[in-house]
Amino acid sequence: MNPHVSTSGAGLAAAVPSAGSTADAKPFLDVSGIVVRFGGLLAVNGLSMQVERGRIHALIGPNGAGKSTTFNCISRYYQPAEGRIVLDGEDITRHRPHQMAALGVARTFQNLELFGELTVRENAMLGTHSYGARTIGMMLRRPSAEQRDLVDHLLERVGLADHHDTLASNLDFGRQKMLELARALAIKPRLLLLDEPAAGLRNREIETLDRLLRELCERDGITVLLVEHVMQLVMAISDRITVMSFGEKIAEGTPEEVRANPRVIDAYLGKGTHRG
Ligand code: ADP
Ligand code: MG
Repeated sequence: MNPHVSTSGAGLAAAVPSAGSTADAKPFLDVSGIVVRFGGLLAVNGLSMQVERGRIHALIGPNGAGKSTTFNCISRYYQPAEGRIVLDGEDITRHRPHQMAALGVARTFQNLELFGELTVRENAMLGTHSYGARTIGMMLRRPSAEQRDLVDHLLERVGLADHHDTLASNLDFGRQKMLELARALAIKPRLLLLDEPAAGLRNREIETLDRLLRELCERDGITVLLVEHVMQLVMAISDRITVMSFGEKIAEGTPEEVRANPRVIDAYLGKGTHRG
């Protein structure tokens, strides 16, 4: 079991210390000086950023800036050539991706990674088994009452209560994204990494996502780090924003500070399009 979470009850609320507790002096996630090269290309060039516990932190910038690469370093899919990544005081720079769920780190992908031939419920159930069972068959065979309750609870929270038995491939795009989020939440994360959660969503779906992310942060104390181009969402929900361009951090601050920063306007916001 995840050593960091309570196993009682279906909710997420018991999973994490409350935001704003006195233990928050140190950043929850501390990324310092990471460098990632792909051949001759310097994708991330000495990036440092700190994410506070229980906050929503956004990573923005034009396409190709290095946002997803940074994400992949934090979730341990990529190995930075230099730098250090510390989660809640623990150096995870050399951790393997499969160790991250047990540490309470969940992620979604820029391109959806669902099992289309499995149902909504089965896909969500897979999140509850990220560590432990070795095959999908093993994972799905005998979920505990607790796992079933958790999945029911999460599917309801993301608005999929009426779609338990639908094949994931038959969901519309917005619902597929919500399912991916539910699956990530099923590990009862302390840190939720979301790569472009609002991309392709309709306005109404973005509003639902806005509400849900605030709730996860405020009610469940989950720390959220998201890469996102939809500025309507980023500016509304973020406590703090880090802006990247060409592999480097060019600005950081509150939404108001970032929105008014000439470098950010020049590199990203001022182009009339948010996609560089
Ligand atoms: P962003 O998410 O900000 O759009 P990425 O982190 O995906 O940017 O990419 C940063 C740079 O690294 C881009 O120039 C991209 O083409 C390159 N890149 C990303 N992933 C790979 C990879 N696996 N192999 C080679 N180049 C990559
Ligand atoms: Mg990306």
